[in-house]
Amino acid sequence: SSLPYKLRKSARPLSQSGRIVLVTGAAGFVGTHVSLALKSRGDGIVGLDNFNHYYDPKLKRARQKLLEKAGVFVVEGDINDKRALQQLFDAIQFTHVMHLAAQAGVRYAMQNPGSYVHSNIAGFVNLLEICKSANPQPAIVWASSSSVYGLNSKVPFSEKDRTDRPASLYAATKKAGEEIAHTYNHIYGLSITGLRFFTVYGPWGRPDMAYFFFTKDMLKGKTITIFEAPDKGSVARDFTYIDDIVKGCLGALDTAKKSTGSGGKKNGAAQFRIYNLGNTSPVPVSRLVSILEKILKVKAKKKVLPLPRNGDVEFTHANISLAAKELGYKPTTDLEAGLKKFVQWYLKYSNSKKKNSAAW
Ligand code: NAD
Repeated sequence: SSLPYKLRKSARPLSQSGRIVLVTGAAGFVGTHVSLALKSRGDGIVGLDNFNHYYDPKLKRARQKLLEKAGVFVVEGDINDKRALQQLFDAIQFTHVMHLAAQAGVRYAMQNPGSYVHSNIAGFVNLLEICKSANPQPAIVWASSSSVYGLNSKVPFSEKDRTDRPASLYAATKKAGEEIAHTYNHIYGLSITGLRFFTVYGPWGRPDMAYFFFTKDMLKGKTITIFEAPDKGSVARDFTYIDDIVKGCLGALDTAKKSTGSGGKKNGAAQFRIYNLGNTSPVPVSRLVSILEKILKVKAKKKVLPLPRNGDVEFTHANISLAAKELGYKPTTDLEAGLKKFVQWYLKYSNSKKKNSAAW
């Protein structure tokens, strides 16, 4: 087997809870936090990530170091690589899969549509195929996105609302993922829970997201661009702090029912659920900037432009009552408190990056 020796030796005995979780996208922003939380409560965990270059891979390597320090091993591999993934499943009986690997970002889809198809559709199908044939089948929890609500005009967004008007290819692939997941659920008896995250932010976050590059550019005295929707003012987002998202992910893993296996009368009996994980408190991007000005003690140089039709929606706002009821989900961090924690991390990270560029 080409599995790393460390993994073959140690993956199974590490679980104190009986759960053995495969976390895909483990070197990603959400994946890192979820992995650390699972590890610290005693779950056995194996990470998988292809360390792609969508954003600075040094940040992914730095997260990987953090994970390894905590005893989480990240295998380097692609969810779309059938052989490698099958080897992993042959070596380890996963009870759960936390599937967070994806090509994220709405704007990049215009430059590289193929990477969305590769990871969010073909890669997801590959993973489901392998889960379907595993014995026992793991329960799957995966990241969909608030972007599936697309050009919906009704707020707040609730799970029953229409999702048939995606505003970007990214959104379309997440929506397709939900349909694909549902199909694997009812044909093969896989238990699947989809989580629609709303604009997640926090320490170890993604450099392609506005709160991150605003912080970076404001500290450098660069001009930042704020988009406005015609007649509606600044674009608004239901910014959700990473620790709240992590609690929602763990809640979904803990309430996930066992997969029932394919064939016979068991078909359709496995659980299929979809939940919003947001903050129920949309904030205009102009307000995000004024909070950052206060925390960073910097006056932003701003340019305001009309919102281009490149995949961004004007407004997001989660109704979270279903997740509250069924997962015990309750976000507790407001944007100001969460951004303070982000900035604290950012300053430390960018300083050590400057001082010791080899380490990042
Ligand atoms: P991220 O880009 O930081 O993490 C994704 C990780 O998956 C990356 O480390 C990447 O290298 C890895 N990856 C990508 N394609 C892969 C492949 N084919 N095989 C193996 N690894 C692969 O993004 P994130 O913000 O941590 O997002 C995690 C999940 O949540 C994604 O599915 C994303 O679409 C979804 N999501 C995120 C947000 C958000 O605001 N951060 C909002 C909605 C949905």
